[in-house]
Amino acid sequence: MDRRAFLIASARIAALAALGPLGSCAQPAGPVKFDRDPFMLGVASGDPLPDGVVLWTRLAPDPLHGGGVPNRSVDVDWLVARDEAMKDVVRTGTASAIPDLAHSVHVDVSDLEPNRVYWYRFRAGGVESPIGRTRTAPPAGALLNLRFAFASCQNYAHGYYTAHAAIAREDLHVVLFLGDYIYEGNARGDIVRQYAKRGWSFSLADYRDRYAQYRTDKDLQASHAAFPWIVTWDDHEVENNYAGGIDREDPRNKQAIAERAAGYQAFYEHMPVRVPRPQGPELKLYRTVSFGDLATFYVLDTRQYRSPEVALCREQDETPSGYCPASVDPKRTMLGAEQRAWLLAGLAGSTSHWNFVAQSVRFAQQDSSADAGKRVFDGVDNWMGYVADRQLVLDQLARTKNPVVLSGDSHVNFVYDLKRDFSDPTSPAVAAELLGTSISSEGDPFIPQTEFTQSARNPQLKFFDNHRGYVRCTLEPGRLTADFRAVSTVRAPTATVSTTASFAIDDGGRSANRA
Ligand code: FE
Ligand code: CA
Repeated sequence: MDRRAFLIASARIAALAALGPLGSCAQPAGPVKFDRDPFMLGVASGDPLPDGVVLWTRLAPDPLHGGGVPNRSVDVDWLVARDEAMKDVVRTGTASAIPDLAHSVHVDVSDLEPNRVYWYRFRAGGVESPIGRTRTAPPAGALLNLRFAFASCQNYAHGYYTAHAAIAREDLHVVLFLGDYIYEGNARGDIVRQYAKRGWSFSLADYRDRYAQYRTDKDLQASHAAFPWIVTWDDHEVENNYAGGIDREDPRNKQAIAERAAGYQAFYEHMPVRVPRPQGPELKLYRTVSFGDLATFYVLDTRQYRSPEVALCREQDETPSGYCPASVDPKRTMLGAEQRAWLLAGLAGSTSHWNFVAQSVRFAQQDSSADAGKRVFDGVDNWMGYVADRQLVLDQLARTKNPVVLSGDSHVNFVYDLKRDFSDPTSPAVAAELLGTSISSEGDPFIPQTEFTQSARNPQLKFFDNHRGYVRCTLEPGRLTADFRAVSTVRAPTATVSTTASFAIDDGGRSANRA
């Protein structure tokens, strides 16, 4: 522990000791006193603007059992400073942590300076939180370089967050998280770390305790405390492979709707996002985040509005194209009409030099048939199950300046050329897709694989790697460089990290190539 961290820790222990033991009798109204640290879930920030950022924490002195805060509102003081010692304070305020939001707070700080690092801290019941570091976005018009990482899929049971420890050590402006922040249900597969609570009922209490256990991880806390995050979700924030666009009036969907409302509520309570509070089973999560004129991130929600997943095709149901008939049905949608119109109009009118579509599931076509004489496109949970929406986006990407699709979900790294017509091998790429591996999901690879041979079956696929890790990107006006970062293990609490491959996309290039 360095001296600064020691001083912070000492001050916090002293503050806790000064509170003394709590009596067992009912507490009168008044300031809350905590007999345990209420900041065990750490601090976070997100969705940076040129003049602001969202600060987050949740009071939870008993994180694995509902939080442990009395059932009333608690004042949480916050402050933002221009120095790590928190002397040069520029903004302060008090937020109300309410029981309805599990005593979480989202402070949307404004009137900050653009492109500047800030530090922040909370205080509740006389106890101070750890200090977080964040950064505002550059002003409109600026073309400043941007360093970011993107990551996804952090199954707690499958491994330690050695990748988050490595992210926290990087020199970044922002982190994008593309889904599967938690995994619902009981631990399955090769279990490295157990969940505190056995049993699962899809209740709000279950989701809250699950997020809380994930957030007790010190490496995840360090990653949040080091940089602002931009977060979207995938399926496991609610349930494996769920589709949100189901008929609300159908009584058979009542349980699914209730589970979704609980999952969305807990997601909101634990994420540093600038979005409205969820209303039952609805949370408007799709949004843009811009970094001057250099880059805009179109952050998608590929779950809430998607048509129900097509049933796995039997071979006789497959069309000559290799797709299930339902996958190419133009009535089916991945994004929903409103989000799709928003995305297409946003890309069409964009003045950004680079345009990132940041979303959760694989966008490219990939033939997974083992039979050389057949073509099988069976990715029913990713964009291969929603071909009509994919084509509308591809057609717009072809007309968009420097488009790049960022994805997660596959638990391996892929680089693709996105073709306007995947069935035509001579069709030019309209954009690159960079798909990032998991932080921990599926654990250490059984056989590590970084050697890659391109096959005639999938000429659009340019790279594959199955390590755990994340993707680190350096964006300049003239070039995007993506480093695929791999950790040596997730079976142990500490690991080394290395770059297995680097790809670059040049200004106007529309294709990623080995750097
Ligand atoms: Fe996943
Ligand atoms: Ca997923």
